[in-house]
Amino acid sequence: MSEYSAPTQFIDLAAQQKLIRPQLDLAISRVLDHGQYIMGPEVKEFEDHLCKFTGAKHALSCANGTDALTLVLMAWGIGPGDAVFVPSFTYVATAEAPAQLGATPFFVDVLENTFNIDPSSFKQAVVECRKLDLKPAVVIVVDLFGQPANIDAITEIANSEGIKVLVDGAQSFGAESHGRRVGLMGDATTTSFFPAKPLGCYGDGGAVFTDDDELAEIINSIRLHGKGGQKYDNVRIGLNSRLDTIQAAILIEKLAIYEGELEARQMIAQRYSNALDGFCQTPILSPGVSSSWAQYTILVNDREKVHAALKQSGIPSVIYYPIPLTRQLGYLNYPQVSSLTSVSDALAKKVLSLPMHPYLTESNQDQVILKLKLALEK
Ligand SMILES: *Cc1c(COP(=O)(O)O)cnc(C)c1O
Repeated sequence: MSEYSAPTQFIDLAAQQKLIRPQLDLAISRVLDHGQYIMGPEVKEFEDHLCKFTGAKHALSCANGTDALTLVLMAWGIGPGDAVFVPSFTYVATAEAPAQLGATPFFVDVLENTFNIDPSSFKQAVVECRKLDLKPAVVIVVDLFGQPANIDAITEIANSEGIKVLVDGAQSFGAESHGRRVGLMGDATTTSFFPAKPLGCYGDGGAVFTDDDELAEIINSIRLHGKGGQKYDNVRIGLNSRLDTIQAAILIEKLAIYEGELEARQMIAQRYSNALDGFCQTPILSPGVSSSWAQYTILVNDREKVHAALKQSGIPSVIYYPIPLTRQLGYLNYPQVSSLTSVSDALAKKVLSLPMHPYLTESNQDQVILKLKLALEK
């Protein structure tokens, strides 16, 4: 099949696999040979690579990105009576982690330009949670679609109130903010290696990054059933949350080509933006920030019509996210800031994510651009 007739994929995991299949086969074979499927040598090796890549002092792998959030919240002793501030416009896992620990997710709004948490909305929510007899405990800063949030503004408010900062970097692994890689911001950062994330494995996986020695030690214990110093010595309630050795072996090979993939994503995003500027609202990056481009998300007024027209012309596009968390049935009983989360509501009606992966050819990109422009004119 020629490059011109190859259909455009929303995310193309097969193209990447084709490129490194021999390395992946060897990596998996090595695990099958040594047979240490749980916490085998590749797990530690991958964590060392993660530390080098991010600059973080500690990287602790775990079963998935949701558990990564839970591990940090558990290590901080978060539970009933604690307010955990989360943006309304995010993936459900951000609020699910505090909710399942009995804490109260407190919804705040996001900014229209970056889709990330609005510091003034957060500030107001801190005041309001006290009126509900909740203790302001943690803010979860989501780097939506790969762009790091305004961490300095959030950290300043959080520090003055004794609130811990947890960065949900599930979508932003590899992105940077003012020279700092994701993993170095907040009191702790989490990420996900779900297959469709920028760095994905072939199953579930996640990690926590922190510079805090004590926190790292507690998380290491929690992910292994709350283990103490000796085997079958359990000093706290924990979880069973480990990254499989096979997934670690796969991730080592994928991380080796990740810098190049990040560059490709950046070039594609720039090319999209150059071509689409003036036709629709293209993504806006804050100064000093780079995105890992988990998604390339535009805003369009007649979203359903454009989405359908693209589909008809063979271009896949996805709506992340159609329902903000304040309007999700499972989360209706949790509080939101009194100034409301109307930017989140408005974004949910307008967002549309275009095909984005490092192996999108220029002709694929041109097709997306052409068909989108036609869809917008209709
Ligand atoms: C994917 C995602 C998660 C959860 O990651 P899993 O590995 O699927 O558990 C958490 N937060 C955000 C923002 C995500 O996009």
